[in-house]
Amino acid sequence: MNPKFARRMIRFQESDLTPILRLAANPEVISFAGGLPAPELFPVEAMKKIAVRVLDEHGKRALQYSSTEGHLPLREKIAARTNRNLKTSLKAENIVVTTGSQQSLDILAKMYIDDGDCILCESPTYLGALSAFNACQPSYREVDTDGEGMVIADLEKALAEEKRAKLIYVIPDFQNPSGKTWSLERRKAFMETVSKHDILVVEDNPYGELRFEGTTPPSLKSMDTKGQVVVLGTFSKIFCPGLRVAWVCGEPAFLESFCNLKQAADLHTSTLSQYEIDAFLSEHDIEDHVRTLVSVYRERRDIMIRTMDEAFPSEVTFTRPEGGLFTWAEMPEKVSGRDLFMKALEKKVAFVPGGAFYPNGGHENTMRLNYSNMPPEKIVEGIRRLGEALREAL
Ligand code: PMP
Repeated sequence: MNPKFARRMIRFQESDLTPILRLAANPEVISFAGGLPAPELFPVEAMKKIAVRVLDEHGKRALQYSSTEGHLPLREKIAARTNRNLKTSLKAENIVVTTGSQQSLDILAKMYIDDGDCILCESPTYLGALSAFNACQPSYREVDTDGEGMVIADLEKALAEEKRAKLIYVIPDFQNPSGKTWSLERRKAFMETVSKHDILVVEDNPYGELRFEGTTPPSLKSMDTKGQVVVLGTFSKIFCPGLRVAWVCGEPAFLESFCNLKQAADLHTSTLSQYEIDAFLSEHDIEDHVRTLVSVYRERRDIMIRTMDEAFPSEVTFTRPEGGLFTWAEMPEKVSGRDLFMKALEKKVAFVPGGAFYPNGGHENTMRLNYSNMPPEKIVEGIRRLGEALREAL
């Protein structure tokens, strides 16, 4: 590493995952590695027309600098949708538009974390959040997590032991990477526990709207009586990630400090992107678009899980997500996800080795599989090949 770099760069050396994931990008490879939406479902024609119309009607404003908190009509629409989906009662003043939720994760770490402060997270957790948080050099406390969410006894223990705990980061709906969703009881118990502590809860919810069956439990934010929870939402998975438009919901005083940092980072999110999404929301039925995504992703989930049932050795267990983009597999301890990745790549199939999702290491016998980005016939072929690689590894 360049000796002139700041100390924080130690955590940003190329990870051993980067070169292997580059191999997964080869178009000949059937890749379950990324977390990408299905590009064939992007509303390209509608957005082409909107791009022209926005420039015709609002060109001078849409190409200009704009406010840090975001385009007001868009914030109003986001508040209304969030209230419907998360059973909250937010207004536009509770919403700031961000450049992807990734930016919120970066800003929240800068707002709360000094070197050595502790972030509590699920085990496993979202790799991209760890990358964003790492710039502030936190320590991580992984809280035991089962099929219903964070294990409350372990959360209580962590809160009692970690004197420098500042922030709890959770993804209660169709978690990345595990595909798991927290139960209602666990959400209630979680909120009861955290409300006894002066700690920020970050509820990251990019996948909640992509529910294939069952009913959506109330969000943590809807049970938040102290203004302790901030929620992150994004258009990346329900619309398209390329415009980089997302949002953070919180109390106005919190958002004022958040905006001071956002202003320092990028002044504001792309004005043009915000106008374009606002126009789409005005002129089209995004709920209809989300229903299309849900039916396509449900079919892909079904095909992936069915083929895993048929093709994976019985010693391999995996989650059956009710929504979102991922399933998560656990293999016998002797199988390393990283070694299996290289074997699978010889068969031209890829996934993300699961060890990377644990900030304190271990759990190498795991893998994350994405089903949204491959057509059904490739899912079947890819999972069969992965089944062969697994049998060889066992
Ligand atoms: N949080 C989670 C849990 C995610 O899975 C992702 C995207 N993979 C993000 C945040 C970042 O999303 P965005 O495109 O809005 O930056």
